[in-house]
Amino acid sequence: MAEKRNGRGGGSRENECCDFCGSRRNDVGLLLTSADHRLNICDRCIAEAHKMLVAGGIIKDNARRTSNAGGDVYKAPQTMDELLKPVQIKEFLDQYVIGQDSAKRFISVAVYNHYKRLICSQNSASDEVEIDKSNILLVGHTGTGKTLIAKTIAKLLNVPFTIVDATVLTEAGYVGEDVESILSRLLQVADYNLEAAERGIVFIDEIDKIARKSDNPSITRDVSGEGVQQALLKMLEGTIVNVPPKGGRKHPDQDFIHVNTKNILFICGGAFDGIEKKIAQRLNTRAMGYGRVQADVIDRGNMMQYIMPQDVKTFGLIPELVGRLPVLTYMEPLSKEALRSILTEPKNAIVKQYERLFEMDGVALKFEEAVLDYIVDKAVEYKLGARGLRSICEAIMMDTMFEVPTSGNRKFTVTLDYAKRKVEKVNFSEFRAAI
Ligand code: ADP
Repeated sequence: MAEKRNGRGGGSRENECCDFCGSRRNDVGLLLTSADHRLNICDRCIAEAHKMLVAGGIIKDNARRTSNAGGDVYKAPQTMDELLKPVQIKEFLDQYVIGQDSAKRFISVAVYNHYKRLICSQNSASDEVEIDKSNILLVGHTGTGKTLIAKTIAKLLNVPFTIVDATVLTEAGYVGEDVESILSRLLQVADYNLEAAERGIVFIDEIDKIARKSDNPSITRDVSGEGVQQALLKMLEGTIVNVPPKGGRKHPDQDFIHVNTKNILFICGGAFDGIEKKIAQRLNTRAMGYGRVQADVIDRGNMMQYIMPQDVKTFGLIPELVGRLPVLTYMEPLSKEALRSILTEPKNAIVKQYERLFEMDGVALKFEEAVLDYIVDKAVEYKLGARGLRSICEAIMMDTMFEVPTSGNRKFTVTLDYAKRKVEKVNFSEFRAAI
C-alpha cells in the first residue's frame, strides 16, 4: 500500500509522501527515505517521535526547550537569589489584576513558598525538613479575576500553564474525562517537555461543581462529584501519574508518560454560589460564644472575606481535598470603581487594546470619560461583571472597527451619544447568557 501511495515504481519524487502522516514531499521540510527505499518519514513526524521519547524518558534532551507561546525559555529558579520575593510577585500581579489585594498577597506568598520548596528539594539532604505543597483554593464569584490571577502568575514564572474545567471530569471508567487528562494538557502546553511540565501550574476551574451532591451516601455512585474529588487527591498531593500522551481516554496499546506531580502547583477556583449563607451561619453561631467575632462588626456585604476551610467542607468538598488545598483565599466582589479601573488601568486594559488596534490603522482613538462611566453603569445595571465590559465595548466599537480602516479618518472619538446609540440596540438578556 505504501508503494502505491508513494508512487514508487515509476511515480515522481513530488508524489512521495510520509508513511506516518501522509504529508506530501512538497508540504514538508524534509522527507527521509529508509535504506531499502520502502519507507518515508517527514521532519514533523521525526520531531513528534523525538518529543515522545524525551517525555517518556527514553532519550535525554539537555537542550533547553522553548515554550510554544512567544519562544520564551522555561527556566526554573535555582537559587534563593533568583527567586522573586512575594512583594515583587504582587507588584507584577498589580499591573494586570485590579483590587483583590488579599488574594494577591496570599498567592504571592504561596508561589514564593512553592519555589522555595523546589529549591529545597533540589539542594537538601533527604533527612531535612520537607516543605509541604502550597496548592491554592480561590473562592469568588465568576468574573472577579480568578483565572486572570492564575494566568498572570504563570506568565510571570514562565512555566507551562493550563486551565481545566472540573465539570468535564469523571471518575475513571465513566463517560467524561479522567483526571489524568489534566496532565496530558499540561504536557501538550509544555511541548512535551516533561521537566517543564513537572514544574507547571494547573488551574482547575469550577471546583465547586464537583462538590458532593448530598450529605447522605446514596446507592448510586457520585462519579462526577465525590468520585472526582477522590481521584484528584493523589494528584494534588504529589504522585506519579501515568498519562496517555495524546490526551483523552486510555488506549491499551498507548505508551504512558510518567508525570510526577510533586512540584506541580494546583490552583483551584470556584464561585461556590451560596457559600456566604454557610459562612453567615457559622459566624452567627460563633458570635454567640464568647471571645469570638462580634456580630456587629461583621461586614454583611462581603461575607466571603470570613471564609474558612470548614465552610468549603460544608459546601461539599471532602475534607481530604480541602486538606490538600492549604492556601484558601477569596475574591472581592468588583465595585463600580474597580470595574472602571479594569477598563483603563491594567497593562492590557480593554481601552488600551482598542487604542492599539486603531493605532495600527494610523487612527488616534479616544474615549470620552463619560463613555467609560456609561459602560460601567451598564455592566452593573445588567449584572454583567467584568466579563461584560468587553462585550459592551465590542457592541460600541463594532461598526467603527468595520469602517475606520477604509474611511481615511485619522482620528476617532467615542462620544457618549455615539456609545448610547450603539448600546441601545443590544439585547442584554441574550448578552448575559452569552458571557
Ligand atoms: P473568573 O475566573 O473569576 O470567572 P476571569 O479571571 O476569567 O474571572 O475574569 C474575566 C475577565 O474579566 C478577565 O479576562 C479580565 O479581563 C476581567 N477581570 C476580572 N476581574 C478582574 C480584575 N480584578 N482585574 C482586571 N481584570 C479583571
